[in-house]
Amino acid sequence: MADYSTSRERMVRRQIAARGVRSENVLDAMRKVPRERFLPKGQGVWAYEDAPQPIGDGQTISQPYIVAYMTEALDLEGGEKVLEIGTGCGYAAAVLAEIAADVYTMERIEGLATIASTVLDELGYDNVHVRQGDGTLGWPEEASFDAIVVTAGGPDVPGTLKHQLKIGGRLVIPVGKSSWYQQLVRVTRVAESEFETEDLVPVRFVPLIGEEGWDS
Ligand code: SAM
Repeated sequence: MADYSTSRERMVRRQIAARGVRSENVLDAMRKVPRERFLPKGQGVWAYEDAPQPIGDGQTISQPYIVAYMTEALDLEGGEKVLEIGTGCGYAAAVLAEIAADVYTMERIEGLATIASTVLDELGYDNVHVRQGDGTLGWPEEASFDAIVVTAGGPDVPGTLKHQLKIGGRLVIPVGKSSWYQQLVRVTRVAESEFETEDLVPVRFVPLIGEEGWDS
């Protein structure tokens, strides 16, 4: 099997650290996860490009920098319980699992959920739990979460997800009135029914489809 460790180190230096991601937790996680394993067979050679890549079913593996940026925005110190909506191929779940204690990740497309689960098992990420379903409704049996990250763009912040945060918990999600261009926002639950919202950066994600997202 090809050795991508040099490409991975270069990705962390040139695409991520050079653009301002400072968290050592995040940089170390990005150094560890073998991104090539999350691409479809024969596509591993594209794994360290500075761009999203197709993974089938019209979906993508996110650009490495945006995975690092969103992970840093969650402000994880280690040991947290995290929910990810939009497993895709499972790459970002693996990055989160390098830092957090447990990662719960939901994907609406069954085929992708199955593939992601297989790869994560093969790589030994037994702290990642994959479920197929509509992530806009969250994972009520496992709530509440220290952090929630949504890797698809919705029209608004799903109220259900906000209420699955612990007090002090952070939700990072792309939001926008167009289903393809969004603003990345961070919502912090500061009290039982009090939330603070910050605008982060403009982003471009595939649509979040579901009961509290876009119609399919
Ligand atoms: N996290 C992925 C990674 O590691 O690269 C990127 C995922 S891709 C950009 C977004 C994913 O969100 C797609 O696989 C899509 O099927 C999924 N998705 C869209 N709406 C969803 C929903 N309501 N619940 C769960 N997954 C959803």
